[in-house]
Amino acid sequence: MEKRLRLAPSPTGLLHIGTARTALFNWLYAKKTNGKFLIRIEDTDIIRSKPEYTKNILDGLNWLGLNWDEEPIQQSQRISIHKDTIRKLLEIGVAYRCFTSESEILELREKLKSSGLPPKHDNRHRNLTSKEIKEFISQGRSSVIRFKIEDETEIKWEDQIKGEIKWKGRDLGGDLVLSRRAFGFEIGDPLYNLAVVVDDNFMNITHVVRGEDHISNTAKQILIYKALNFQLPIFSHTPLILNSEGKKLSKRDCVTSIDEFKEMGYLPDALANYMAFLGWSIKNPKGEILSLSEISKVFNLSEVNKAGAKFNWEKLNWINSQYIKKMELTKLNKYIKKYWEDMGWESPSTEWDLKLTNLIRDSMILLKDAIDQSKPFFSLSEMQKEGEEFLKNNSDAKESLKTVLCYLKGENISFINSDKAKKIIDDISVKKSIKKGILMKSLRVAFFGCLSGPDLIQSWELLSLNKSDITLIERCLI
Ligand code: GLU
Repeated sequence: MEKRLRLAPSPTGLLHIGTARTALFNWLYAKKTNGKFLIRIEDTDIIRSKPEYTKNILDGLNWLGLNWDEEPIQQSQRISIHKDTIRKLLEIGVAYRCFTSESEILELREKLKSSGLPPKHDNRHRNLTSKEIKEFISQGRSSVIRFKIEDETEIKWEDQIKGEIKWKGRDLGGDLVLSRRAFGFEIGDPLYNLAVVVDDNFMNITHVVRGEDHISNTAKQILIYKALNFQLPIFSHTPLILNSEGKKLSKRDCVTSIDEFKEMGYLPDALANYMAFLGWSIKNPKGEILSLSEISKVFNLSEVNKAGAKFNWEKLNWINSQYIKKMELTKLNKYIKKYWEDMGWESPSTEWDLKLTNLIRDSMILLKDAIDQSKPFFSLSEMQKEGEEFLKNNSDAKESLKTVLCYLKGENISFINSDKAKKIIDDISVKKSIKKGILMKSLRVAFFGCLSGPDLIQSWELLSLNKSDITLIERCLI
């Protein structure tokens, strides 16, 4: 049978790393089994759901390469079907109208709290007669629909990640509310646990993979599945993503939305690659830099860890730098050029662009590092203390720069390629008996204002093409 998996995000915020990782595990398993990966937008919370969040979620999944197979389903379009199902549950006697008011619920909660007990409904209206129901309605009381959960009921399932999970009916908070409040014999808007069962059944979902914070919902949903005689899917509950302190990764950890990762300069392939290892690992690793299609071939839900997965920035950074290193040069240049354009930097030619991209790629961790790394090639770098001191403390430094300058001006050379640069350095060090090391360091100070930076020879070539090498050397001689 075809395996059908889904992501069911609520469009009440930007695509979160946790949702993206859940999407990824669903996607990987669907690909591995030649199944389908589907999307259902759970937009029934009219106040909090926003179309721009739906767009953000879909765009984010697309960006990560998590393509879906069928047109996304919008849960809000199916409300009347959910209500019909609630009517059916009422008819078969497994659900009932409950008129307990908000203040009565609060009172009950307080009472339980003062005896040290967790909140749980007392199912007081389970056996109302039709006369009592009519009376409540005529008093203008609103009602919800509750689904009966017997205290003694045992719920058990074999979770693909967590193994066997058992729940007792008595631990589920009393009879389950299926719909919001409504007046008369109306049925209010259906709630998550009912809608999710109806829709997963409608979409023929065979495997439900979602965060472990849904475990108690699964217990409730299994009871609804059974009452409706629906085929149960196989459940898998993924471990939470934790911050460095072992707490659930949240907005307080600064970066949680996929947009933020994108803005920081992470590549989609690198982020997706990293996310796959957030809670899962390969038995016989051939390295951890793998494409999603490579991972999908070896991925298995049963190998996902039970315990929470700590978010490791160092590992993500390392993976990102590896992707930058191996990316096709013109593709990387396209990414980098956007940053240059944002800075208002203009480059002399495509060839120069590619050479600079190649020069800086090894020292980049994030795409936006391209700004700092390429800055000296677009604007004169500031002289730093380290550079100043080098020029001051090395008697040969200024002399060697003077000689280079004379050479450049004397021969009227407009462009220094790598061979020429090497030759100039060799010639001058022999003729003027200046140590090559000093000569090169002096040039480095001239070009970058300090003693570090990318390869000197290649940098010189780029700077000469940009016609700034002479200016940079001259500034050291004033
Ligand atoms: N809308 C729910 C959420 O975003 C879906 C949970 C589920 O996958 O059933 O948490």
